[in-house]
Amino acid sequence: MSRSDVTVDLGAIRRNARRLLRALEGAELWAVVKADGYGHGAADAGAAALGVGATALCVATVPEGLVLRRALGSVRVLVMGPASSLEITEAREAGLELAIGDGEVPEGVRVHLKLDTGMGRWGLAELPAPGREVVGLMSHFASADCDAAFTEQQVARFRAATDAHSHLTRHLANSAGALRYPSARFDAARCGIALYGISPFGTDPAEDGLEPALRWNSQLAQVRRLEPGESTGYGRRFLAERPTWIGIVPVGYADGFRRDLTGTEIRVAGEPRRVVGTISMDAFAVELDRELPVGTPVTLLGHGVLAEAHARVAGTIAYELVTGISRTPERTRCAIVES
Ligand SMILES: *Cc1c(COP(=O)(O)O)cnc(C)c1O
Repeated sequence: MSRSDVTVDLGAIRRNARRLLRALEGAELWAVVKADGYGHGAADAGAAALGVGATALCVATVPEGLVLRRALGSVRVLVMGPASSLEITEAREAGLELAIGDGEVPEGVRVHLKLDTGMGRWGLAELPAPGREVVGLMSHFASADCDAAFTEQQVARFRAATDAHSHLTRHLANSAGALRYPSARFDAARCGIALYGISPFGTDPAEDGLEPALRWNSQLAQVRRLEPGESTGYGRRFLAERPTWIGIVPVGYADGFRRDLTGTEIRVAGEPRRVVGTISMDAFAVELDRELPVGTPVTLLGHGVLAEAHARVAGTIAYELVTGISRTPERTRCAIVES
């Protein structure tokens, strides 16, 4: 029996892509599949999105782009992060497109000029006259998940800076922008998190018509009763006050079940149960209400267990949780399904 199973439902990714395409009302959907498709598998997730109408894939690095070129053939791929001069050569040979946020515009490769409208990270302070290599103009939102006034300001800056070049493909929105800011649609939107059925707003994804695509399951590997005063795990952080049944799940922070998830809710035999004690590298404990057999199914994510809820407990965002799930075959069994 494997320690845990990660299952990615490409049907859910397709439905989320269609949901985004409806929101975009004619603007193109570009599927963001950096960090191995936010931990869902870049080539599979990308192919699923392309299959229902997405027209390009976006990644952070040239090596990520080269992987997609080999896996998926001649699809349109945009590298959004900076590239070294060796990587620019590789991108040119592989026909990848590059976002340029500072320095020289390279020759012989299709580029998107990236304007800084408020993100304060990569990006040009002012747009130079676009040369013939330039096919797109882009910018990136800093707070489309939480600050409408600043977001509209970024839209207005982008519009003012790019209106004279409306023959080029203009793209600004991420998932939050695509779902909530009609003014941000322009010609294309670069959507990542929503494609995977996770809310960019940290709320229930169903509120935005999204469906989580990733399920992470395990099982109870050990069940034991703690007597009052007995503890489980490092540092004795969980002390039983009364006789308490606990289950040990063979998944830990090395698998991506982070150490700060103590207290979060998972499901055991379909019922909500709390994670207790210190999470170790390869195991953690869950409080049960009764004795259950070894092998009882445990749901870490999916089937009603939301990454957004775990993220609130851990003081982070769901993006970090899903990209952190280890999918190495030595520890986790991964499967692709279609629903
Ligand atoms: C990651 C990224 C996106 C996608 O953001 P989501 O919130 O996941 O939709 C879009 N544009 C750029 C430049 C990015 O780095």
